[in-house]
Amino acid sequence: MDALDILTDLEHVVPYFQPIFNAEEHKIMGYEILGRYVGKNEEISLGSFFDDDTIPEEYRIEVENAVLSKALEIASSACEEDLLWFVNRDAALLMMDDGEGFLQLILSYQDKGVRPDHIVLEISDRHVQSHIEHLINYYKSYGIKIAMDKVGSESSYLNRIAGIEPEILKIDMSSLRSNNGGPAYLDVLHSLSILARKIGAAILFENIETPYQLQFAWKNGGRFYQGFYLKRPDHGLVDKEILKDKLKGEIHGFILSEKKRLQSFYDLRLELNSRFQELISKYKKEQNPSELLMALGDRMDGIAFRMYVCDEDGFQLSPNLYKAGNEWLLQPEYENKNWSWRPYFLENIIRMRGGKKGILSDRYSDIETGEVIRTFSLPLNEKEFLFVDLSASFLHVREGLF
Ligand code: CA
Repeated sequence: MDALDILTDLEHVVPYFQPIFNAEEHKIMGYEILGRYVGKNEEISLGSFFDDDTIPEEYRIEVENAVLSKALEIASSACEEDLLWFVNRDAALLMMDDGEGFLQLILSYQDKGVRPDHIVLEISDRHVQSHIEHLINYYKSYGIKIAMDKVGSESSYLNRIAGIEPEILKIDMSSLRSNNGGPAYLDVLHSLSILARKIGAAILFENIETPYQLQFAWKNGGRFYQGFYLKRPDHGLVDKEILKDKLKGEIHGFILSEKKRLQSFYDLRLELNSRFQELISKYKKEQNPSELLMALGDRMDGIAFRMYVCDEDGFQLSPNLYKAGNEWLLQPEYENKNWSWRPYFLENIIRMRGGKKGILSDRYSDIETGEVIRTFSLPLNEKEFLFVDLSASFLHVREGLF
């Protein structure tokens, strides 16, 4: 459809509303406002119109404002409901008049009950340049909230996110689908969740289309949810509690399966602990760490693929004992290396000393084998600590692939 046809027919340009649900009450907490053209014979999303750089800026601004005015009119009729209104804006278009047009439009609905602090401005990273921070602070001074839109696949703009300090990070769930939620994506997600915590931002997962994606969102710190699986965009607003029972039930299922998973993690830890304690007291007489490792290796076939002993500062006191094919090999070149720089290493030493029990690490990719594994570590005495890298196949059997 031609851009001019849309521009000369603003009467048929209307807002659509897609509900956003929260995790704590399972209710609708707000709506993303989307633009549609609803003609006699066709109904089209205006997303590509707004993103089309070949259409003159004034045209796009005019259509954006037509959508927003109509949306705020509807919002004012629901103003006692305490909803947030998510508004998409191209940062470059906002800057054309130093952000005044947008601000004045928002403020003009204040008397009708739509306060600026009920507005969430969605800015996507492709539009965010460094000079936008000033504008964003100006909006924030009126109470307008900021969401970073389409966060996810790249982490190169993490600094910019930190500079803008958005209230909300919108993570696009479809990027999870495209690479099957592999470890790399999970790592990006993990760093985003740490960043979100640091700057006090909430995570909103959008484009949730399957129950699995909802579970993933819940499990990965998602406070807000949006997507076809929950509700499609529509021209009107719906009851806040429309999915309350369904969501509550579904999330309860997630809670049960997560508790089960955590329980099996702790059971595994206890089991490994008693197994190793028993073996260690049996082989205590082996004076030399290499002999101890060799003795343990024979009993750990199929469970572990690498073992070594370190002191409390992370210096390796033994060779690596490594399972190559069917044989356990000693790798002396690892002796005297220092591992204190590894994440959680020293923290875990202190934990082991305090608890006198072995601990099981989180899942991580082993640098040499590339497999996702866990390390079990336990104190041999006050100064020596045994590290056991558990084989991926053993962990799959015990914990499943999830
Ligand atoms: Ca958006």
